[in-house]
Order: sequence, then C-alpha cells, then structure tokens
Amino acid sequence: MTIRPNSIEARDTAFHLHGYTNPAAHLEIGPLVIERGDGVHVFDNQGNKYIEAMAGLWSAALGFSETRLVDAATKQMKALPYYHSFAHRGHTPAAELADTLVNMAPGNMSKAFFTNSGSEAIDTAIKLIWYRSNALGKPEKKKILVRNRAYHGVTVAAAALTGLPANHASFDQIVPTLRLTCPHYWREGLDGETEEQFTNRLAEELENMIVAEGPETIAAFFGEPVLGAGGVVTPPKGYWAAVQKILKKYDILLVADEVICGFGRTGQMFGCNTYDITPDMMTLSKQLSSSYMPSSALLMNERVFEPLMNEANKIGTLGHGYTGSGHPVACAVANETIRIIREDNLVEHAAAMGEHLRAGLNNLSDHPLVGEVRGVGLIAAVELVTNKETKTALEKPGKLGLQTNALAIENGFFSRPMMDAMAFCPPLIIQTHEIDDLLGRFEKTLDQSLAQLQKDGHQ
Ligand code: PMP
Repeated sequence: MTIRPNSIEARDTAFHLHGYTNPAAHLEIGPLVIERGDGVHVFDNQGNKYIEAMAGLWSAALGFSETRLVDAATKQMKALPYYHSFAHRGHTPAAELADTLVNMAPGNMSKAFFTNSGSEAIDTAIKLIWYRSNALGKPEKKKILVRNRAYHGVTVAAAALTGLPANHASFDQIVPTLRLTCPHYWREGLDGETEEQFTNRLAEELENMIVAEGPETIAAFFGEPVLGAGGVVTPPKGYWAAVQKILKKYDILLVADEVICGFGRTGQMFGCNTYDITPDMMTLSKQLSSSYMPSSALLMNERVFEPLMNEANKIGTLGHGYTGSGHPVACAVANETIRIIREDNLVEHAAAMGEHLRAGLNNLSDHPLVGEVRGVGLIAAVELVTNKETKTALEKPGKLGLQTNALAIENGFFSRPMMDAMAFCPPLIIQTHEIDDLLGRFEKTLDQSLAQLQKDGHQ
C-alpha cells in the first residue's frame, strides 16, 4: 500500500509505536485502519468489511455495536464519570460488580479487586500471593509454577509468567518461575502415548518439580483453563483433576487465568466450570466488559483474603491499588455486559455456535494443510502443516501461518496466526449463517495458501 502524505496512515506510521507489531515492517506497510463496527463485522477506512473472527483480541463478546453498553456508559458518564476506591470510598457500579462476580464465580470466592488490564490483574495476584506468604510467616514461599506457551500478560511480573519466546527475548525477568510442559497432547504427546498417559506424565513432572524445589518455596500455580494465545490448547483428559490434587497435597495456591475463558467462551460461564476447577484466585478481563472499556478483576477466596487482611491491618492499609481500579464507567459497562450475557442466554448460544464452528472446521480435516482442529465452546484453532506425519510446516515456524493470515484478510475475515495455528474466537453473538460465511472464506483461504506453496515449489 502506498502511504499518502498527511493521511491517517502516514501519521500513524510516523508517530505510533504498535504493540505486537514489527516496527521496521510497520514503517513500510503502515496500519490497517479500522473505522467502525457492526455486529460481528468491522470495516476499514477503505470500506472493506471483515468478519471479526477473533472478537478483537478474544474480547468483544457482544460484537461491535451493542447500544446497551453505549447507553450504560453514557448514563454513568453523566452521573459520575470518575471516582476512585481508595480510603473507603465506594460507588454503586463497583459494589454491584464485585457482588455479581464473587457470587457467580466457582470456588467460594470472597472478594474482588479491580484492575484495568489482564496483565495488571496477574501482577496484582502475584503481589498479593507474596504478601500473603509474608503474612503467614513463610517469606521463602514465593516461586510460581507456570506452563510453556502460557499467556498471562506483559507487565514486568506478568511477562515472566508468560511462556512465549517473543515475550522474553531481550526483556529482563524478575519473577522466580518454574516452567512446566504445555498440556498440548497433539504437540507434546510421545509416540504411542495415550491422552491419559500424557496427563500422568505431566502430573509426575509437576510433582517431581515441587519436591525437587521444595514445596515450602512454591507459592502458586498459574494456568489458563484453555491456553489462548499459546495456541488454543485444550487440556488432555483428567489434567486439571490431577494438577489440583497435587497442588492441594503441597499447599500451593491455584490461580485460574480466565482472561480469555471467562463469560461463556468455553461453552460454560467460566473455564473453571468446564474443567471442574476450584481456584483460589481468578483473573477476569476482556469479555468482562466486552472490552468496550478497559476493565479487569481479581477474585480471591478466604484462604487468600484473610491473611492479607490481617497483614494490612498490622501495617495500617493495603498498600496496593490503581487510580482506575473499579472505574465507574468500566464497572457500569461490565455490569450491563453480564446482564446481557445472562438475559440473552449467550453462554448456551456460544456452546451451540461453537459446536457448529468446530463441526465445520473438522470437515476441513482432510485438507492437505490441516494438521489438527482443536477447541471447546466457541474457541478453536486449526494447526497448519505441510507434512501431516511429522506435524511440521515450512522450514521457518510461523511462516505458513503468516502467509495464510494475509490471505484471510484479503478474503474478508480476521483470524490470528499463533505460529502456524489459526485461531477462531468470534463474538459470542455470532449466528449460524455468519459462521457458514466464515467457514467458506476459510476454506477458500486454505486452498489459496496451498496453491501459493505449490507455486513457490514447496508442495
Ligand atoms: N491473561 C490471558 C489469559 C490473556 O489472554 C491476556 C491477554 N491476551 C492477558 C492475561 C493479559 O491481558 P492484557 O493484554 O489486558 O494485559
């Protein structure tokens, strides 16, 4: 694309440093400027229409034109556009949201702490877990168990928990983490190993690591019920039951990172419901407010809250909190989002739409480029390969994903390449005919990507 002088593309290219973008390539390519949204579609400033099959960043649960959220935000803006929650101050939207979240969450939660992004919720969880260990007179209990391919955010502490190479390369790390194998059966399962055997091997790895490191030095295990950005990795059978049993045995807290899974994505309200997980803490964001406002929350049970309450009481205050914690407009939008999800039965709808989507993707299993189709509820991924036997793509991992993604954009839909896997995570409101439209465009994209490989002499 040629970038016209003084255009919005030129200004963006000149002045805007984009996250998760190659800055040098951006100087050449410029931005794809998205101008407006309508349901599950967005439009660029050239008038091109795209199916947003990622709901933005796994997040716009209600699509891109829900007027009830606009009205809730407007009403709150007029009544009280900002207030904080320090020094015993409160307001209705935050109290209402805390009550709603604590009571709808699994695991006997006790309190909600509000933050503004998934990363902040994770950072807060780490800080409060360390604070709790100190409160309990166990200052050595600080290490955090995490999995390869995990995504927990990018702030200084959260990035250390994330298990993806680009988040660590050339960035310094400060959190003591212990890294476990990703529960990715298709990728990590050994030849001839059953799913149950794979689960048992991972459980053994976890227990051996805890014993070798010393359980008294390990504070918590952080995990996404379904790993999102690491490739939409659904756990093997029995995985979460095995993990929870071991954590209980060694008195290690379990933090469920529900930033993607929460609010219906996995076909039940939370990923914890889908996989029978009883966490001590939960991080929530994205679909919490349908991402119309930045918003996130950290829930904790009494096992976490009580010692930190006692410690803060000794000190005189809980020395943690953000200017935007429990922002009234964000909370009002989140309250309305949850009301809509409940009133419109969007969790059940997402489960039904997810089945339709995955059935359609499974129909493409015989395509020469499809290595695996995986998913649960309304979140799925298609692993692209050039060799089904060796489960490998082109010589450079991620190249086939990028090539296919570029064709997807030309074909009018947004997926997301995670190395060579293409992700699908559309708004919960998507309808059958829109999924059929998406599947047709995806099949065409796969055919074009294959033709491109053949043209380039790869197949
Ligand atoms: N946890 C999970 C599971 C996520 O998917 C993300 C974002 N993709 C985060 C944490 C971080 O959220 P944010 O980008 O809002 O900081």
